[in-house]
Amino acid sequence: MTRLSDRLGGPRLWIKRDDCTGLATGGNKTRKLEYLVADAVSQGADTLITLGALQSNHARQTAAAAAKLGLKCVLILEERVSQPTDAYRHNGNILLDRLLGATLKYVPRDTAMVEAGERAADDVRRAGGKPYVIPTGGSNPIGALGYVGCATEILQQAADLGIRVDRVVHATGSNGTQAGLVAGFDGVRSSVRVLGITVGRSRAVQEKGVAALVDETWAHLGLKGAAPHDNIEANDSYFGEAYGMPTPAMREAVQLLAETESLLLDPVYSGKAMSGLIDLIRRGTFGKDENIVFIHTGGQAGLFAYESAFAA
Ligand SMILES: *Cc1c(COP(=O)(O)O)cnc(C)c1O
Repeated sequence: MTRLSDRLGGPRLWIKRDDCTGLATGGNKTRKLEYLVADAVSQGADTLITLGALQSNHARQTAAAAAKLGLKCVLILEERVSQPTDAYRHNGNILLDRLLGATLKYVPRDTAMVEAGERAADDVRRAGGKPYVIPTGGSNPIGALGYVGCATEILQQAADLGIRVDRVVHATGSNGTQAGLVAGFDGVRSSVRVLGITVGRSRAVQEKGVAALVDETWAHLGLKGAAPHDNIEANDSYFGEAYGMPTPAMREAVQLLAETESLLLDPVYSGKAMSGLIDLIRRGTFGKDENIVFIHTGGQAGLFAYESAFAA
């Protein structure tokens, strides 16, 4: 991102385009679903069930994966954001979920989501189907494998370009992306640092969740010994009031990336993560000659659910 790097006066900024992963506008969940859906198919499942907020990018990518493979899909969507606009309720990912042929079930805020998923699975079984429940965000050791693969892919691409990657920065939510990256980089003993910008959780809660999933992923990979934890770092300064609530810095980041790099970030995840990266750069946190890779985790479809946040 040479124009953005120039605008900010360094460091050297790169972007990993995981918004181009292909499933109906793409995103980071596609890498996880590559493994999760393979597991579902190998178990003979005919229905994918998953959980998320109303504008869940994960739910939409799951619906897209199901459509592509001829599976049925049930999405349990929580009304997590207070005072949703009409666009939030009907546009963006919800519009795509419908087009992709998923069955949508809305549940109130603070519903016990795991139990809601189990109830939906029981319904499918009673109707003679074979359900496969994917946890929130696809974040378990199977899904995290997608980001183990992303870590090794980044190292390969850096080698091809002849650069050393110092740090990877991304939005962190349900832990799978960050845990996969940490297990991947540390598993091959690279020195790449990982920084997750949280989208609704405190630093302590996020780091604890990531550490637990790093341990499980490490074991699932069959790596020896205990997983190191010194590369687990979350920053909780940039999500604002709450999950899914716009911040002025997010708006600035989305606008800046569009204007300088023709890149579309999203309001809930990548926009807030980029606002964090920009602020940390302005504070002089990174060396001018560091190579920093921002992972674009996708979510642009969400822009259309947040039209009012960008109204002139
Ligand atoms: C889900 C999501 C994230 C967070 O990834 P986790 O693996 O849940 O931590 C980041 N960005 C976007 C656009 C997402 O949809």
